Amino acid sequence: MFDLRCISCGAGYQSDEVIYTCRRCGHLLEVRYDPDTIHISRDAWKSRPLSVWRYRELLPVSGDPVTLQEGGTPLYHLKRIGAELGIKNLYAKHEGMNPSGSFKDRGMTVGVSMALQLGMKSVACASTGNTSASLAAYGARGGIPSIVLLPAGKVALGKIAQALMHGARVISIRGNFDQALEIVRDLCEKKGMYLLNSVNPYRLEGQKTIGFEVVDQLGGVVPDRMVLPVGNAGNISAVHKGMLELQEFGLADGMPMMTGIQAAGSAPVVRAIRENLPVVIPEKNPETIATAIRIGAPVNAEKVLRAIRETGGLARSVTDSEILAMQRDLARMEGIGVEPASAASVAGVRKLVDEGAIDTDETIVCVVTGHLLKDPETVISQCDPPEECDATIESLLQALHL
Ligand SMILES: *Cc1c(COP(=O)(O)O)cnc(C)c1O
Ligand SMILES: [Zn+2]
Repeated sequence: MFDLRCISCGAGYQSDEVIYTCRRCGHLLEVRYDPDTIHISRDAWKSRPLSVWRYRELLPVSGDPVTLQEGGTPLYHLKRIGAELGIKNLYAKHEGMNPSGSFKDRGMTVGVSMALQLGMKSVACASTGNTSASLAAYGARGGIPSIVLLPAGKVALGKIAQALMHGARVISIRGNFDQALEIVRDLCEKKGMYLLNSVNPYRLEGQKTIGFEVVDQLGGVVPDRMVLPVGNAGNISAVHKGMLELQEFGLADGMPMMTGIQAAGSAPVVRAIRENLPVVIPEKNPETIATAIRIGAPVNAEKVLRAIRETGGLARSVTDSEILAMQRDLARMEGIGVEPASAASVAGVRKLVDEGAIDTDETIVCVVTGHLLKDPETVISQCDPPEECDATIESLLQALHL
């Protein structure tokens, strides 16, 4: 049994209501499970494949989910980058290995399943790219039409290709992500469509399983720190909530220090933490090459401030060149291909080590959020083009300087 609860005033709402924010005070909602009616055994979990649905007792879907077998992503030990930074236990959870190439799939398998469970006839979102790619795929899988709004000219090529091919109605908004989100909220309210941005509390339920999987992959150990790139701040808030539930249900001990990394040109959460502000002040003109986190007014501001403050975590910004340097290092030193926003988490760890702000004995898990192939244009512009030669061995040897 579960219901929806306002995180600010505590007002409760039935689980079958279509509602995204509190009617009484306007604040965010979260899903609350009743510990008296939910019984979970770690053995039952272990008997199922590592995936979002391993943890179904702590998910809101009752029937068969709309699934593409999301989750179960690899947790890689970063041996060489860890050695450079002096951190023995540094890991990357590669969320680019999900069906559509980002962690958004964890949210969409639950979100689209809930759309059907609630009897909705269509789904919609605004997106910096990955949300639209994922919603389009899960909409197709669930047989429900999807509409996605993108900021014109600011979405990586691979993501648009996915949204188009999976058959979403794709609309380019002449404006930024924050404006697109405002419009799509209006559209959903006026036309009865189901909103699947991260303001939707059910979507975040799927994403919290990143943390569950990390604990299982570390043999039941909660890492000292989890580091995530922050845009709308849904993902870091979701992982924090999941960790609180593991404690509440007696499934694991300890709480990671939740650490959020933003791009320097788009860092309102970092500023709020640094200046100890009670709220996040939106950044009007967010700018960064990491388009997935090019967000000035994070929807989950209230949740992320709690997550970072209550766990003794940190927030830092990294420059575009620090992000691109780490994208290259992950690719070349570890064989891990991620898109720019994803590299921000590990770039943030490099910065925190340089500042002496973290203890290098910690076990640190960085979430790398999306796949290298999402944004081929940024990659091509960073690398030398392939060398051409004639189809002879002599020409090849010359080209290779051998
Ligand atoms: C969506 C996304 C993010 C940001 O996640 P939030 O929940 O909005 O903070 C980071 N990286 C990638 C690749 C994403 O697609
Ligand atoms: Zn409220």
